[in-house]
Amino acid sequence: MTRTRRAVVIGGGIGGLTAAAALHRAGLRVTVLERRPSLQSIGAAISLSPNALRALDVIGLGDEIRALAAWQGDGGLRAPGGRWLSRSSAEAAAARFGGPLVLLHRSTLIGHLAARLPPGAVRTAADALLADPGDSDRPARVRTPDGELEADLVVGADGIRSAVRGTLFPHHPGPVYSGFTTWRLVIPVPGVEFASHETWGRGRIWGTHPLKDGRVYAYAAAVAPAGGHAADEKAELLHRYGDWHDPIPAILAAARPEDVLRHDVHHIAEPLPAHHRGRVALLGDAAHAMPPNLGQGGNQAIEDAIVLAHHHDDLAAYTGARLPRTTAVVRQAVKVARLNLMTSRAGAAVRDTAITVLSKAGPALFLRGFDGIADWRPPQAPYASRRTQVGER
Ligand SMILES: Cc1cc2nc3c(=O)[nH]c(=O)nc-3n(C[C@H](O)[C@H](O)[C@H](O)COP(=O)(O)OP(=O)(O)OC[C@H]3O[C@@H](n4cnc5c(N)ncnc54)[C@H](O)[C@@H]3O)c2cc1C
Repeated sequence: MTRTRRAVVIGGGIGGLTAAAALHRAGLRVTVLERRPSLQSIGAAISLSPNALRALDVIGLGDEIRALAAWQGDGGLRAPGGRWLSRSSAEAAAARFGGPLVLLHRSTLIGHLAARLPPGAVRTAADALLADPGDSDRPARVRTPDGELEADLVVGADGIRSAVRGTLFPHHPGPVYSGFTTWRLVIPVPGVEFASHETWGRGRIWGTHPLKDGRVYAYAAAVAPAGGHAADEKAELLHRYGDWHDPIPAILAAARPEDVLRHDVHHIAEPLPAHHRGRVALLGDAAHAMPPNLGQGGNQAIEDAIVLAHHHDDLAAYTGARLPRTTAVVRQAVKVARLNLMTSRAGAAVRDTAITVLSKAGPALFLRGFDGIADWRPPQAPYASRRTQVGER
């Protein structure tokens, strides 16, 4: 009788939970170690593109998420005074990539991923330490508050400050500051009508999108020195964006200071030499944290997880499948961040004119930015289910 392989996943974020669900589905015995007291952290919304939704199809979750989430794409890019630079539609996005781009609250996604796991698979308040990455002739070992676990496979899904990455690749420089800070909020804004938009100014952007439950997800980013915090982040947003177009003032009026989350952005500028060593695979932000401007950090973590489950007994194949792709996506995200947050007046004027002209000549720039990314398909086939097709909402 063959022994069931054991996987220990360090980190219960989006990447770790997707990996655990996919490995469980592939027949492994899975334990997730999460150091926080609960899987539900503070957080805002997350956009998922067709690449990640197709990956979620592999674990039978794609259609549930499509049904729970708001479709994205109706709206477009605007200038701070309100002028539309480019418009797009959810149908056009779905047609271009073979499925919708969607938006939902992170806690919904986390809850549905965790529900895919057997009882007892997740241990919270479990700060884990990789004691030994193992090798072909010995298991890996992970230290937990309750003792040591041996594993055929360890998944380092411990986020951008990954200690697992530091153990595997001690000479890697780690993340760098991306040059800007972000604010996010999810709130009800009764009585406000708006079309989804992302608005690009000079060194500042703002986005507003509806969630399916009626709340509004708004985010902002601004070029700023690292480590800054305001005593009242709502006042800071009013100062920076209070005179931008509707519905931004109404959203700010509805927000309470405690609704506003602020985080500086860091990314991994130098790709890792590999996404594995010994019996340990890295994924998500631990392997390739990127600026959020393409909305791909979580999406790529989900892709990683599904591909890892496919190659769980051949980690070199996992690196081969993921390192070139995630390196390219990180580079693209850095480029988009530079374009979004351009500070020079002349540069921003040229940018805005180019967006307007290019978007009149063909599909909206918003859509073209996802070419080569949103059309990705997982290696596993057939998918568990694909009810939602282009045109159905
Ligand atoms: C402003 C902003 C907006 C974003 N918007 C989007 C978006 O719309 N779409 C998208 O795809 N991505 C988006 N992202 C990126 C996305 O949030 C991340 O890429 C994603 O959360 C990474 O998931 P992860 O599981 O790799 O890491 P994390 O979510 O960071 O999870 C790591 C987990 O590991 C745990 N952990 C750490 N160390 C240990 C330890 N020693 N023992 C046990 N547990 C440990 C942590 O507590 C944490 O729960 C955004 C990011 C930002 C900053």
